[in-house]
Amino acid sequence: MVYQVNDRKKDLLEIEKKQSLSVFEIANMQLEIAANKINLHPDILAQLKEPERVLMVSIPVKMDSGEVKVFQGYRSQFNTSRGPAKGGIRYHPEVSLDEVKALSAWMTWKCAIAGIPYGGGKGGIKCNPKEMSEGELERLSRRYIFEISSIIGPRQDIPAPDVYTNSKIMGWYIDTYNKISHSSSYAAITGKPVDLWGSEGREEATARGLSIIVKEAADLLKINPTKATVVVQGYGNAGSIAARLLHEQGYTLIGVSDSKGGVYNLEGINPIEIFEHKKRTGTVSNYSKARSITNEDLLKMKCDILVPAALEGVITKENVKNVRAKVIAEAANGPVTPEADEILFEKNIFVIPDILANSGGVTVSYFEWVQGLYGYFWKKETVNSRLKELMVKAFHEILQISQDANVNNRTAAYMYAISKVAKCMEIRGIWP
Ligand code: NAD
Repeated sequence: MVYQVNDRKKDLLEIEKKQSLSVFEIANMQLEIAANKINLHPDILAQLKEPERVLMVSIPVKMDSGEVKVFQGYRSQFNTSRGPAKGGIRYHPEVSLDEVKALSAWMTWKCAIAGIPYGGGKGGIKCNPKEMSEGELERLSRRYIFEISSIIGPRQDIPAPDVYTNSKIMGWYIDTYNKISHSSSYAAITGKPVDLWGSEGREEATARGLSIIVKEAADLLKINPTKATVVVQGYGNAGSIAARLLHEQGYTLIGVSDSKGGVYNLEGINPIEIFEHKKRTGTVSNYSKARSITNEDLLKMKCDILVPAALEGVITKENVKNVRAKVIAEAANGPVTPEADEILFEKNIFVIPDILANSGGVTVSYFEWVQGLYGYFWKKETVNSRLKELMVKAFHEILQISQDANVNNRTAAYMYAISKVAKCMEIRGIWP
């Protein structure tokens, strides 16, 4: 790998020239910055600028009222040179083709960083699951899998959970897939309930992976967890479990939020108590032992570790100057825009990029797939220790590149991932 001399100012100028990029344009810009630094062959770069395949489906669902509503669904398979496509399915009102394509690109890089034999994919349905009954969600989920069934499978493309999807939905997915294919595959879907041959440790894997990486970063930066604070934006699967695991390491949680708003308490918030409060009331807001704060102000809180764990594009050129964290650990995919990224680097804020920080989820999905293919299941300790081994290795590989090439951690992660994907593409060549 040949690194070019880094010229961050040039990168920044290029980024600034393009105003209001879509998420997929951002993903492509991140690709180009890193591709330039590793002298990626233009033929390979051209192939990495669009997904290999995207399927758009219309999903008719009989609602409880008797009315039929038609939802738009997507599955994007970005690159399969390293193995079958792999990635979650998102249910959200803002799901779009552009977003799904970007998320599938990020999955490709993430799987390469994790060192697991997958390409990248992602899917989504534009819907508001909060306004749907369980029956409506089940009909939506099953019909979606039916619609994309021709392109998924344990050796083709393996879906998993993402925002507003969970193990229960994965249970409907695997059941539907098995019925359609007249099979009993354990490996066609990951993130399944443990009782239906999911993996021990999968539910908390994203957050556990993040907490492992935060520990490595804290050791490097000499942050003492017992004297350090954490702020978490988004209190779902990734955010709430990350808060708990970091609290277990000794950190003080001082602020949290969800889609309805946030709360803070500089004396500390108990992550489990506030999780119970959210379970009871549907939100972290109005928690009696903390004061209200907006999502925007939460990101400005002075803290050691900031964990964005909601959606993309929350730290931007406009608000980055107010970010006062020492470390940003990206549980969410794409929470920092490229302009903001460069400014964070200038400000010496240590960003642990999404494709590294949240790769614990897909890593344990891989373990689930391996266990499913064998039909032989591991203990939680085995899962967690294998996860730690892969995460720590990836962190240090990327850190080394960032130091050698004097690039930010995200560019280093891309350089590492793209090189690995490009290698497989070169070996395979183009056929037919
Ligand atoms: P989730 O649905 O369990 O939780 C999402 C949380 O974000 C909820 O608390 C929700 O209220 C909050 N939220 C939504 N919109 C918000 C907004 N505008 N402002 C503040 N909070 C908002 O989802 P999740 O699985 O925890 O995923 C969160 C992020 O982590 C996503 O970016 C996802 O792609 C990423 N991620 C998740 C996994 C995983 O295994 N769950 C793996 C890798 C990456």
